[in-house]
Amino acid sequence: MKFRNFKMVDYVVYGRGCFNQLDEIMTPHRKGSSPMVFLIDHFFEGKPLASRVPLRGKDRVIFIDVTLEPKTSYVDRIAQQLKDDFGEISGVIGIGGGSTMDFAKAVSLMMTNPGSSADYQGWDLVKKPGVYKVGIPTLSGTGAEVSRTTVLTGPTKKLGMNSDFTPFNQIVLDPELTANAPVNQRFYTGMDCYIHCIESLQGTYLNEFSKSYGEKALQLCQKVFVEKDHWDNECDDQLMMASFAGGMSIAYSQVGVAHAVSYGLSYLLGTKHGIGNCIVFNKLEEFYPEGVAEFKVMVEKNKIDIPQHITKGLTDEQFDIMINVSLGMKPLWENALGKDWEKTMTREKLRALYESL
Ligand code: NAD
Ligand code: ZN
Repeated sequence: MKFRNFKMVDYVVYGRGCFNQLDEIMTPHRKGSSPMVFLIDHFFEGKPLASRVPLRGKDRVIFIDVTLEPKTSYVDRIAQQLKDDFGEISGVIGIGGGSTMDFAKAVSLMMTNPGSSADYQGWDLVKKPGVYKVGIPTLSGTGAEVSRTTVLTGPTKKLGMNSDFTPFNQIVLDPELTANAPVNQRFYTGMDCYIHCIESLQGTYLNEFSKSYGEKALQLCQKVFVEKDHWDNECDDQLMMASFAGGMSIAYSQVGVAHAVSYGLSYLLGTKHGIGNCIVFNKLEEFYPEGVAEFKVMVEKNKIDIPQHITKGLTDEQFDIMINVSLGMKPLWENALGKDWEKTMTREKLRALYESL
């Protein structure tokens, strides 16, 4: 048995208002006059947060369009632009949801590794550390702030740049930044965390390390989405820690059926990660009976719309594309259903599941 020796984020600061310490935190990492580059979720263009970033010298702000999940071509374009404009930069700071944080990790890596980010979609293909990178979440749930991957859609696949060079050097967890997220979005991204917990805790890869973090994250999600009857600061505080702990849980285990199926939706239909997971999880009673029952309670209680019939009218060919993408996620299926997963999850069964969405 060989145990995974995983790289973690170097520094973590947590607390309401800790965003104000960013200037002080970054200063030792400034290299001469090379700028720091702030990659900010386009939602914040013209909003107060954008004017709070501690700019010095040649520092630059670039707003990142996250209407679609990050693409390798977009990452390459921004990295090339920074190389053309500055040669070297001191670091990148990603401020936003999982999409922006993934984008920042990828740009950091592409400042030092040659070629296209598409060349590094896979496991341990990245050769060199990127530039200094900071992640600052404005939505809680994905765990992208702690993970060793950055999910990108490339010319041939949707797959992360998984490597020991991928985790952030610093994360700034300031729950004030998630305060005004729209109710539906906050729920979809929060449920990414809830689903990570269920999939990790019921998976065959589980060990005590994953279980400890997974149980805590699950408990925090339940406090926020089941027990509370209105949203307040404590919910933002708790969901931010749930996301962190949920990410730590899957660092040592794996996600499961909802993620494997949702990847197919996202590849074919462009369905975003959080909402896609919700659409799928809603139909997974057979695999996660208690989790799905509680999920339905949370949907009801928080008055959330989960889209229905999204695969209606698709062709056989389109179903096959989703099935192929999904069955390609072998570790997820193995974690969910064990070594003999292929006997349980046949193409016919998966087709029926996709048709039910
Ligand atoms: P997101 O980053 O895609 O953002 C969703 C929407 O919310 C966007 O329109 C954005 O502009 C907006 N938004 C962000 N913060 C806001 C705020 N405070 N107020 C109002 N609007 C705000 O959403 P997400 O669910 O956080 O991230 C999903 C992405 O994360 C996907 O691309 C997925 O692949 C990735 N992901 C990565 C990992 C990882 O380990 N790297 C894990 C899970 C998901
Ligand atoms: Zn997820």
